[in-house]
Amino acid sequence: MNKQLRILVTNDDGIHAPGIKALATALREIATVIVVAPDRDNSGAGHSLTLSRPLSVAKLDDEHYSVQGTPTDCVHLALTGLFDTPFDLIVSGINSGANLGDDVIYSGTVSAALEGRILGFPSIAFSLTGEHRHFDTAAKIARQLVSHFLECKLDKATTLSVNVPDITFEEVTGFEITRLGSRHPAEPTVKQIDPRGRPIYWIGPAGNEKDAGIGTDFHAITQNKVSITPLNIDLTCYRSFNNVAEWLEKKI
Ligand code: MN
Repeated sequence: MNKQLRILVTNDDGIHAPGIKALATALREIATVIVVAPDRDNSGAGHSLTLSRPLSVAKLDDEHYSVQGTPTDCVHLALTGLFDTPFDLIVSGINSGANLGDDVIYSGTVSAALEGRILGFPSIAFSLTGEHRHFDTAAKIARQLVSHFLECKLDKATTLSVNVPDITFEEVTGFEITRLGSRHPAEPTVKQIDPRGRPIYWIGPAGNEKDAGIGTDFHAITQNKVSITPLNIDLTCYRSFNNVAEWLEKKI
């Protein structure tokens, strides 16, 4: 037990979501926890920052701050001006739903962890897959992993995205270090007509899994394992250097 550990907790489902409450409660057994989270659901916010208006912060009590902004806003604000005391690590989640494969590009949960890492702090994101009924399982696993997280030798541009299967703790069969799988393209946009007769559109649901073989995050979840994917901030595709060079030579 290291009560000196000071953890910033955030999420993308909003400060009143069940996942962040379960996470903060579990982590308070091992650390001082400060929650800085969006005032409403920001799922799908990705890594967006609010730059067109100032950010309002409501201090609910000494340990809970509600922000009219995105998950990335919350982490940025918390690490660059809201507090005088620094944090030891950033924990994001527990998301209501999986963040597997392509999901991480859109995920506010994962982006919040990445923002912490970009600003120089160790960080980790947690998501609960399926119908997200077993927050107790994910919270227990989060406490296990976070209590030893600073012993994990990650380089300065890496964060961890953890997906927990939606089952009881006893049913979890283990941990697997995974790579991101991928999904088919999203379902089509859904068109509806508003009460004034004008068309409105809902973004369609994410596609089903496409690359979900052995070694992927998708596969680990089907085996009732906790999936741990190390994510790199560097999006450079090094294997494409030669192809781009060949293309350039032909063009010039
Ligand atoms: Mn979410």
